[in-house]
This record gives sequence, C-alpha cells and structure tokens, in this order.
Amino acid sequence: MAAGPPRDAGAAATRAFEHITDYLTGLSTRPIAPTAGYGKIRAQLDVPLPAGPTDPVEVVDALAAGTADGLTGTGSPRFFGYVIGGILPAALAADLMAVAWDQNAGLASLSPAAAAAESVAGAWVRELLGLPASASVGITTGTQMAHVTALAAARHRVLARYGWDVEADGLHGAPPVRVFAGAARHTTVDAALRLLGFGTRRLAVVEADETGRMRPDALRAALAGGHGPAIVIAQAGEINTGAFDPMPEICALGREHGAWVHVDGAFGLWAAVSASPRRRALVAGIDQADSWATDGHKWLNLAYDCGIAIVADSDAHRAAMSTRADYVVHGGEGEHDPLEWTPEFSRRARGFALYAALRSLGRAGLTDLVDRCCGHARHFAAALAGLDGVAVLNEVELNQVLVRVDDDDAITGATTDLVVTGGVAFVSGTVWRGAVAMRVSVCNWMTTEADVDQAVAAIATAAITARARARA
Ligand SMILES: *Cc1c(COP(=O)(O)O)cnc(C)c1O
Repeated sequence: MAAGPPRDAGAAATRAFEHITDYLTGLSTRPIAPTAGYGKIRAQLDVPLPAGPTDPVEVVDALAAGTADGLTGTGSPRFFGYVIGGILPAALAADLMAVAWDQNAGLASLSPAAAAAESVAGAWVRELLGLPASASVGITTGTQMAHVTALAAARHRVLARYGWDVEADGLHGAPPVRVFAGAARHTTVDAALRLLGFGTRRLAVVEADETGRMRPDALRAALAGGHGPAIVIAQAGEINTGAFDPMPEICALGREHGAWVHVDGAFGLWAAVSASPRRRALVAGIDQADSWATDGHKWLNLAYDCGIAIVADSDAHRAAMSTRADYVVHGGEGEHDPLEWTPEFSRRARGFALYAALRSLGRAGLTDLVDRCCGHARHFAAALAGLDGVAVLNEVELNQVLVRVDDDDAITGATTDLVVTGGVAFVSGTVWRGAVAMRVSVCNWMTTEADVDQAVAAIATAAITARARARA
C-alpha cells in the first residue's frame, strides 16, 4: 500500500477529540499523580519502528492507551504542585485551532492572523499589568526564555551606553557587565545568564531577608562597590513563599547607578489585577523597571507553553532579537513581526490562546481568578495551621503556602509523598532555609473551597500516617 494522506483528514482529530473529552471529564475524579512511571510507559510505547503506515485513528488510540497512566492531572482542581495552572476553556479551544491552522507565527506577512492576535494580546497584557503602553512584547515558551529575551535587550543597552555593540562584537573584550540578583532568585535566572554569556560565577548575589525578599541596603552596597554597565534582576513572587522584592527601592537604586532593572514575575506580576489594595501594593512601582518576564501557562491558565517578555526600551529589544534575510518578507509600518521580539525564528502561534484567555475572562474575570486563588491559599493556610503538628512557614500574601510537619524533615517529606501517591491532591516539596517543606500553589481557575478542604483532609491523613511510620 502506498503511503499518502488519509482520505478523511478529520477522522483522527475527531477520535482525538473523544479522548480529550474523556480526559477532561475524568480530570476531577481520576488519580492526579501518574499511576505508572517512566519505565512502564516507555515499554508500552516502545513497539518496533513501524515498517509502513498505520491508520491515523489507530495511532491516536494507541497513543491514548499507551500514555493514560503516565499523565499527571495538572489541570485538576486539586493539583497544587509546582506553579501550574489549568486550561481555561477558551484557551484550550484556541490552542486546538492554532494547531489545526498550523500558522508560522514569525511574520505578519506569513500569518497576519497570528501576528495580529499576538499584538493585541500583548497590548492587553501590558494594560492589565499597568506597564508602559510603549513597551514591546515577545511571546516565548516560558519565563526562562522571557528572561533570555529581556536580558538580551538589557545586555544590548547597558553595553551600548559604553560604546560597545554586543550583537556585532560579542562579549569578548567587552566592558564587564555587573549582574545582581537576590539570594532567593529562581533558578531560570541563572540559566538565562549562562545562555547570554554572563556566567553564573559573575553574578553578584544580593542577600535576601527571611521571606526571600532582596534587601535594598545590600543591593545599595553591592552597586556602590563598583562601576560600569550593570543589570539588576528583581523578583515579584518567590517560588516558595510568594514574596516580592521591594520594587520602588530597587528601581530607584537601578536608576541611580544607571543599571537596567529586570523583573522575574512568572506568576507574581498578576497581583497587579487584584481587587485587594494590599495585593496590588506588592507590585507597586513595578512599572519603573526596564523589563518584565511572566508566564501564560501558570496563573493565566493557558496550556503549555506560553511565556511573555515585556521590554520598555523597544529599540534595545528589537536590536537584541531581530534577524534579517533577503528571502524573508517583513511587515510594513506598524505591523508586528513576532520574530523581531523573540529568540525563535519559526514559532507556534501562541498568541491565539493568550488572546482567547484574556477575551474570555475580561479584566473582571482575571481579577476574580487571581483573588479566588489567593483566598483559597489563605483558607489552605488557616486549615493546615489548625492541624496537629502542622506549621505554615510563610505569611500568605498571594497564592503560595509553605508547610512543615512536626518540624521534621523526614516526616514532612513523607507527608508530601503520601499526598501525591494518594492521588486525591498533588503538592510538591522543597527545601526552605535549610528545612524540608511542602509547597502548595493555588493557580487553577477551577479550584473551589471544597477542593481545598479535600486536599487539607488528604494532607491531614498523610501527616498522621507519616508520623506513625516514623515512630514505628
Ligand atoms: C516558574 C517560574 C519561572 C520559570 O518559568 P518557566 O515558564 O517554567 O520557564 C521563573 N521564575 C519564577 C519566579 C517562577 O515561578
């Protein structure tokens, strides 16, 4: 039989849609953690390379059957691990269409639709976050690549001020760039710095307080200890505690020393849309920074993957990312060519889902999503703190709750593991200031108070079991 396109191109997609419907319907009742590990799933998928074609519907069925036990129910309303949102219905639908439309989102001339959706969605994000309307926006795979994008713009600008063209001449022989970040920074900051040629050993680590906030007095001293091009990386929302660096002080210090200030706000930036003045105060002054990185796939509840880089100095942003080739048709005046603002050349049209999510929520819907999650986090904290031997380690200002059981590393770790294997809820672990802790992150649009109560009950049972085992 000759290989060729299936006669009914929609049959496999229709079958996939049935599997998707089953998956989503079962999401709140199925075990959240995978019930099979990597080895078992790999063995299930590891048939000999087919010598010839297989019917696409059969392939879809085989893929669904072979992977089911190995999927983590990250979209479940009781998934509280890492920082992972679910998928808003409009975002899911838009992403399905984006795949079917198969647009290369790099150029307005190649896909006016993808480029325009990104442009509008980017403007909405700027408006929601209270960032300058003149800032440029690049849609990336995640915050890590948003850091790379924004910090490449920073590298361009701080070196250009010293007469150095980093895009042409690279870093060899360049004036040394001083880079500052807090002790509780996210690991992706280091990865971005590595990719940009700064190297992690050159990073000046600025002391953080007991909640993870960068200490402005320490930053002041560090900046005063030298001169030359400088970049400061601040954080809005620490991965464990949700703590925010003091932005007004950091931005003022940055200006004083001619340093570029970049903000890692993977989830925390969205505090800007809260109805609570206390939460909004966490991000007050953030518009004074030079660049910002955030995620669509966390609190905004887009599917993976979507990160957002926003840069006030759009000339620096374009200079760092833009590429030109004779065969590429660039957009006309006022047209947004996404490849000018991101590290990628060819790219999936992530803007459709971002556009759809924001259009479906509206400002009020997003405010409600953020504040509901924060309310659930507070409820979590209050209920957990009421349990025997359970302590909440952070002041819950946002959506993150840090928990420790019996002030004991082994019992806390075992409790986390038992919650996950129990399948009713999903939490994850960490080490905070030298002590093992459980992390609870609330960022799913579907989560209700009943889900929180169910998760608290699962944690209570797990803690009792872990304690009994430790004593046995
Ligand atoms: C999740 C997170 C990141 C990394 O984001 P990715 O989208 O996974 O690349 C960076 N910083 C903070 C504070 C985060 O929470």
